[in-house]
Amino acid sequence: LFVSFEGGEGAGKSTQIRRLADALRRRGLDVITTREPGGSAGAEALRHVLLSGAAESYGVRMEALLFAAARNDHVETVIRPALSKGFVVLCDRFMDSSRVYQGVTGNLQPDFIDALERVAVDGIVPDLTLIFDLPASVGLERARGRLQPHLGNAAEPDRFEKEEVETHEKRRQAFLDIAAAQPERCRVVDAQRPVAEIGEYVLGLIEPLLTL
Ligand code: C5P
Repeated sequence: LFVSFEGGEGAGKSTQIRRLADALRRRGLDVITTREPGGSAGAEALRHVLLSGAAESYGVRMEALLFAAARNDHVETVIRPALSKGFVVLCDRFMDSSRVYQGVTGNLQPDFIDALERVAVDGIVPDLTLIFDLPASVGLERARGRLQPHLGNAAEPDRFEKEEVETHEKRRQAFLDIAAAQPERCRVVDAQRPVAEIGEYVLGLIEPLLTL
């Protein structure tokens, strides 16, 4: 079973991935949690280039190609082998992030994104994609709180700090459009509800799929 977690900044994806992984492990399932960009040695090597904005300075097509390279490495060295061993794979961001960040707000043509996606995932598509939805301003507030240097957690200086809230609202809508276009794969999660409630809801969505 392959589940991807998508959504804007500060939506609480990583918190819910941790909770879900714990809940599934308590039931005796083998679970791996992973993330993009990164998740494999080759992809983690590109992560810094991608998140520091270095790739962006070479243009959004270059950036999209690097995301695709990272995704393909992640798929072939981590995700596909885990799925074939029967693991549940929970992935923080996957192909829909490219469609939204590089495609919609990067202004790349859907054909270009489609082509990269086909090459990158090579048939490995999530069985379920959870779209964590909340107003951009709320998510940004949460994400900024997480990066405050005085809390000692100012990890990578994410590019979102430089972006307009409108850009983030555009992404929110783009994720909702994907969910509406692919209802069999996607479920929208109201990311403003309390953490425990979201956890219950997510577990309820996963349970019927546990035979996959
Ligand atoms: O929210 P998270 O910690 O997953 O953020 C990772 C960052 O990677 C996002 O803020 C986004 O700017 C960037 N990203 C991207 N394109 C992707 C995936 C992630 O620009 N396809």
